[in-house]
Amino acid sequence: MTTSTIGIIGGGQLGRMLAIAAARLNFRTIILEPQADCPAAQVANAQIAAAYDDPAALAELAERCDVVTYEFENVPVAAAEALQHTVPVYPPAKALEVSQDRLTEKRFLNSCGIRTADFRAVDSQGDLEAALAEFGGKGVLKTCRMGYDGKGQRVFRSTDDSPAGAFEALGSVPLILESFVPFEREVSIIAARSRDGDVSCYDPAENVHRNGILHTSTLPARISEPAAATARDSAKKLLDALGYVGVIGIEFFLMSDGTLIANEIAPRVHNSGHWTEAACVVSQFEQHIRAVSGLSLGDPARHSDCVMTNLIGDDIDDVPAWLARKDVLVHLYGKTESRPGRKMGHVTELKKPSQG
Ligand code: AMP
Repeated sequence: MTTSTIGIIGGGQLGRMLAIAAARLNFRTIILEPQADCPAAQVANAQIAAAYDDPAALAELAERCDVVTYEFENVPVAAAEALQHTVPVYPPAKALEVSQDRLTEKRFLNSCGIRTADFRAVDSQGDLEAALAEFGGKGVLKTCRMGYDGKGQRVFRSTDDSPAGAFEALGSVPLILESFVPFEREVSIIAARSRDGDVSCYDPAENVHRNGILHTSTLPARISEPAAATARDSAKKLLDALGYVGVIGIEFFLMSDGTLIANEIAPRVHNSGHWTEAACVVSQFEQHIRAVSGLSLGDPARHSDCVMTNLIGDDIDDVPAWLARKDVLVHLYGKTESRPGRKMGHVTELKKPSQG
């Protein structure tokens, strides 16, 4: 064991699950998060309660930790770069830079030979109208930065959907228009790369979203073996190109002809990988801790079929019923207040032993 204290930037549920996994391997964790008593700090050894870009807080984190990681992709790139001078930061800052901007992300994916939807940069209402005309009036308009869970988006389904005022409605900020992808279903892959460059992938999950938020991840996904191989191959290309260390989530659209189109990447543990804690010996959280701390990767093999369901807002009221079932692993995030759209926890139902 070379690393003893892991710093985690961000104090939400992903940080919480990373801290739990870290503790099981005897690591200590320190959370950098402005909000007191955040989900991650409740289970970590210490919290530095300050902004993610507070220079004194970053210096303290670097001083007290042997390695620093993060649980969300909007960590300021400058903060990660500043930390890197004194402490290893994984995944690399380049992964933040690429994933924080949808245009940069798509261009990077394409440069790695990974297919995405066709796209145009939109910096004015005129750009939007020209791009929509090119795409036959259909497309998905998104803010380049800070969009998540379907926020900051507008869908144009036909020429009847008028783009009037759309640039301003999304905040007059840099936008991207993506061609509308008539996908059959959505899948994602969770992959990891060690400090030595070993790459390991979990089975692809089939994801269903509701109101732009992940609702369920089902294993096995209905995906052909060649398509699953393409997903693994894309993950390896991307991880190698970034010199990545840690876990990454990649979301894809699966087309009816079996081909895959990458939608977005998350340089962190991912909601569509929560099932791994119930259906694999080594979860995505432990895999990330192993990778960033310089340990060898664990076996990503899946022992059971399963369905992970997010508990959003009032779904938290169903916890007693979930707890009464013997085939379900319940995981709650320590959030005292439930609000519509807020992720409160998740459950994973084990279905049957895997046939693979
Ligand atoms: P995103 O924020 O990029 O993950 O988008 C949220 C959801 O919107 C995705 O999970 C898809 O269901 C849908 N979506 C996003 N982009 C497209 C697209 N180009 N074509 C069709 N549906 C899309």
